[in-house]
Amino acid sequence: MTIYDPTKIPGDVYDTHTHLNDDALYHDVAAYVGRAHEFRVMEMNVVGYDPQGNQRAIQIAHDFADQGIRAIIGFQPEDTDKFDAAAEKLLRQQLNDPTVIGVGETGLDWHWKNFDRDQQIAAFEKHLDLAAEFDLPVTIHMRDSFDDVYRILQERSVKKFEMHSFAGTVDQAEKLVALGGYISFSGMATFKNTSEIHEAAKSVPLDRILVETDAPYLAPVPKRGQTNEPAWTKFVVDGLAKLLEIDRNQLAKITRENAYRVWPKN
Ligand SMILES: [Zn+2]
Repeated sequence: MTIYDPTKIPGDVYDTHTHLNDDALYHDVAAYVGRAHEFRVMEMNVVGYDPQGNQRAIQIAHDFADQGIRAIIGFQPEDTDKFDAAAEKLLRQQLNDPTVIGVGETGLDWHWKNFDRDQQIAAFEKHLDLAAEFDLPVTIHMRDSFDDVYRILQERSVKKFEMHSFAGTVDQAEKLVALGGYISFSGMATFKNTSEIHEAAKSVPLDRILVETDAPYLAPVPKRGQTNEPAWTKFVVDGLAKLLEIDRNQLAKITRENAYRVWPKN
């Protein structure tokens, strides 16, 4: 294996949100990590979403701790029915794990109508309280739910958060940035037909932009439609750099350093 020296090779990328814990990728984590490194995606946050996803995220972070992988754990909106007292107790224990650097993914998803909104709001608020208690940043999933997410973030004075796979408007991005948030762009920002996201990306100050794959979902151009993987954060950076008209290695560095501010290296 080649020895990696970040001081000698510029352009390395931090995938702030990926799901190597998902069945689509979990069967071959080592291969995906290896390929990510070939594409100079040298660090990544593996994000949990339900009990099994959280447990796997922590296990992967332990197995690959020396290879730039850390865990974020929580219950995504559509799995909040599993977030009972016992699940919260376990989550609290897991939040003490040294490889766990954040709470999430949590948030509100008003896209799917058959999920319980009150339950989602209660779980989101509980996750924000846990993040405050453990002094960790929050990774937020927001879909068709800006008004409620924004109101709750304001009520709880949440400052350190990542709005993951952002797909909102310029106005929404500006409001979230004003709260102190970081806006993370996924492969969606590389699609041709997402002009609203393009405009939002241009409006976000460079020191608040993050990049992610959200693998196995949302593969960026030129891999659109395929099973996404962390290596392809490279294409997110390439596409975003083109859109923002800045050097791609510079954008890689900026987004990596932004990530270090959200999730400080220990
Ligand atoms: Zn995700």
